[in-house]
Amino acid sequence: MSFDYDLIIVGSGPAGFSCAMQSSKFEKKVLVIEANAKHLGGTWINTGTVPSKALREAAKTIYRYHSQFGYDKGRRPFEQFRMEELIHYQQSILESKNRKVKDDLIKNEVESIRGFGQLIDENTVEVSLVDGEKKKYTAEKILLSTGSSPKSPSKKLRKNSEILDYETILNLTHIPRRLVIIGGGINALEYATIFGSLGTRVSILNDQEDYLTYLDHEIKDQLNASFGRRQVSVYNKVTVDDIRKNDLRTCTEVLFKTKEEDRLQVLETEHVLYFGGYQPNSKNIGLENVGIKTTKEGFIKVDNAYKTDVDSVYAAGDVIGFPTLASVSFVQGRLAACDMFGIPARELPADIPFGIYTIPEMAGIGITEQDAEKMDIDVTVGRAFYSNITQADLAHIDEGLLKLVFSSKDLKLLGVHIIGEGATDLIHLGQSVMQYGGDIRYFIQNVLNYPSYTEAYRIAAFNGVNRVYKAGVKYKNILETK
Ligand SMILES: Cc1cc2nc3c(=O)[nH]c(=O)nc-3n(C[C@H](O)[C@H](O)[C@H](O)COP(=O)(O)OP(=O)(O)OC[C@H]3O[C@@H](n4cnc5c(N)ncnc54)[C@H](O)[C@@H]3O)c2cc1C
Repeated sequence: MSFDYDLIIVGSGPAGFSCAMQSSKFEKKVLVIEANAKHLGGTWINTGTVPSKALREAAKTIYRYHSQFGYDKGRRPFEQFRMEELIHYQQSILESKNRKVKDDLIKNEVESIRGFGQLIDENTVEVSLVDGEKKKYTAEKILLSTGSSPKSPSKKLRKNSEILDYETILNLTHIPRRLVIIGGGINALEYATIFGSLGTRVSILNDQEDYLTYLDHEIKDQLNASFGRRQVSVYNKVTVDDIRKNDLRTCTEVLFKTKEEDRLQVLETEHVLYFGGYQPNSKNIGLENVGIKTTKEGFIKVDNAYKTDVDSVYAAGDVIGFPTLASVSFVQGRLAACDMFGIPARELPADIPFGIYTIPEMAGIGITEQDAEKMDIDVTVGRAFYSNITQADLAHIDEGLLKLVFSSKDLKLLGVHIIGEGATDLIHLGQSVMQYGGDIRYFIQNVLNYPSYTEAYRIAAFNGVNRVYKAGVKYKNILETK
């Protein structure tokens, strides 16, 4: 049977993009269908990953400038900078990323078309074009990479006031002095520290018992201290009762209760930003036409190779659920391409690092000290505080901690947990050592650039070794080469 294409990809975010690029390298004829009439790149480039990171970079620079040189004539960042300037900076980055994605597809001879794709059968996708016309295309394989969308707040909360989400916050015209963020996930915390660094007084209303409970406890303590420095307050176990305009006081009031206190509390704010989680874009894409199953939340079910119940149809990225990250979507899209065209590929390793782009940023891989205790593994930890790292001194940064968790018996590295400048890059050195079954002597026996944040690994390794030594193991034996 002959088809129009070897592969049709529905959605041009990181999962679709990487699948397209990899398949083109396998010399396959690929068509990408994208519903957004203006932009390729999905949440990744247009509303999520890249815009928030661009704003963050600007906020980080401003914060660092002020902490290094003090406030100019006592003015706080929101009195010196306009949101317009930050958005302009961010917009220039989005435009260049958009161009890059488009050029990469063209360079690799991947065709693209704008319209909403829907599965008709296991090899056919119908595209509803912007002008209302419908076209059908066939392919040997199909990838569904339609991503996810933000969940909306309840009607009751939306009734009396405007509530922003991660898309509409990008239209703000000024840096608010006060901001309430509803939600306790990573994106909520990222935005809290972006605005906190710009001098905004931020209140986070989290409906859960706590936030980021998987973090190493010492890293979490450091995060909480950094919230304090940036005027970010967190309220846990919160139920938001109402959000309403107060025209007399020209503000918005957020009324809420906590589990501990039944009385209604009020926060006055300029804006409310809502992060209530994400829902998969799996409706109206024709899953029922071919019998593809989803979870009850609507995420498409796939096997280890990202294949759905239908042999010719694959799915990757946010539409299949956890961990809903661009970093992972890139890899999933590539692995799906390999499986489709019979190219052997290594499955995703069990240990995936995480990066949380708060200011300061955080990253981790492997087990924490607390996990080890629960799992009854005998571990020792090594710590390096940024206040002891020359590079941090040079940059006038004193918040940060890198923590190594390793086996007390053979020094094998089992976990790395970092908060501080460069954490999301630094983590990959620990990841490599762990992937190759290495131990903490790696950081002592190899030359690490100086000054650099990487020095934290050396300091933490020595700190860890000293602890093991104190526990009665001969120092000489510890450092002996294998
Ligand atoms: C505020 C925020 C910050 C984030 N920061 C990070 C970060 O720092 N690091 C990280 O790794 N991840 C981050 N993420 C997550 C990341 O953006 C997503 O995990 C990633 O974009 C998912 O990729 P995807 O390919 O599945 O889908 P998407 O990027 O969402 O792309 C899906 C595309 O499919 C299109 N589409 C949908 N339905 C159809 C259809 N029927 N026909 C045609 N086209 C269709 C959409 O228009 C969209 O362009 C962040 C997310 C948010 C919201």
